[in-house]
Amino acid sequence: MKTFKVTIPILVVAFVCMIGISSPIAETCETLSTGQRKIIPIAAFTANGNMPKLEAALVEGLDAGLTVNEIKEILVHSYAYAGFPRALNGISMFITVMDRRKEQGIKDEIGKEATAMSSDFDKNTYGHKVRNALVGRDISKRTGGYPVFVPIIDQFLVDHLFADIFYRDVLNHQERELVTISILAAMPGTEPQLNSHLRVSMNVGLTKTQIEDYLAVLREEVSEESAERATKSFNDLLGIGPVENIEKAVKVIKKGKSTKGSADYFTGNVTVESRFSSEKENSYRGGIVNFDAGTRTAWHTHPLGQTLIVTSGRGVVQSEGEAVQQILPGDVVWIPANVRHWHGATPDSPMSHVAISDSMNDSTVEWMEKVSDE
Ligand code: MN
Repeated sequence: MKTFKVTIPILVVAFVCMIGISSPIAETCETLSTGQRKIIPIAAFTANGNMPKLEAALVEGLDAGLTVNEIKEILVHSYAYAGFPRALNGISMFITVMDRRKEQGIKDEIGKEATAMSSDFDKNTYGHKVRNALVGRDISKRTGGYPVFVPIIDQFLVDHLFADIFYRDVLNHQERELVTISILAAMPGTEPQLNSHLRVSMNVGLTKTQIEDYLAVLREEVSEESAERATKSFNDLLGIGPVENIEKAVKVIKKGKSTKGSADYFTGNVTVESRFSSEKENSYRGGIVNFDAGTRTAWHTHPLGQTLIVTSGRGVVQSEGEAVQQILPGDVVWIPANVRHWHGATPDSPMSHVAISDSMNDSTVEWMEKVSDE
């Protein structure tokens, strides 16, 4: 791949970026090289059959320094993922582009040929080795799925795609994966394959930044839809949910009016303010409860228990059959699930606490009879 108008150090980095499998130095590559970027629209438009766009992409690829043989190899690789009709149409368009450039007197670099395979080459062993390296684990002896149901297609994949085609060293494995994920992004309905090939792309050393670069090229030069599909697959891979579900802003709920506790459940003047609830369904709910001196709740239980944090004054809490306990600011009280209890202020001091309870069947409390003055 020729690289134009670059200084030597950048050329070295770009070269290192293109050396394939699991080179640790590839991790330092910030973005895709110009040549790598030009692979994306050629592969995508070959796959979806958009001939006018493919024509422009082929011209841009040649102008950016892709060799004739590299582009031929992109088109050859495409047939394994998009089928012979699309690949052959792409090759026809490439012939048209090359003829016109010849007329215009443009001399394109032919580039290197693929190294020939020896006649006694063991395709099956080589193909398994390549595929295992790409996926990052040994999948040569699977006991279910398509390799068992239709063994011949797995043999074609191993002997032909991962040996005959992948052995051809005109493109390295990183470049081949870039071709593959560009093809799959352009073909609706191939999301499972796109997902696994994005994983393979990272296995062969494409960095997160480079994949993001690929997504940007899809969006700018191929189509919004292809970029959306690939972005979704990549987010799935990274374990990121859809963007609209990620909360970005801190939320402040302003203090509202306090409400008076019902006379059915409280003895005396008790108010509740700053009610809150978890954003998650069936999670906690709570509020600040202010008791005037001498006021209290009725007997009650909480289906999943309750936590009280005393913020001011002096209070009391009692569970049935136990002694009354005094509670002061900073004290934290835990009331277990379904334990009958009451809480309130002492006769001579008001008391405020934060109360937090988990809800069960949309309920956090079951009210019972009033507590006697004794
Ligand atoms: Mn309670």
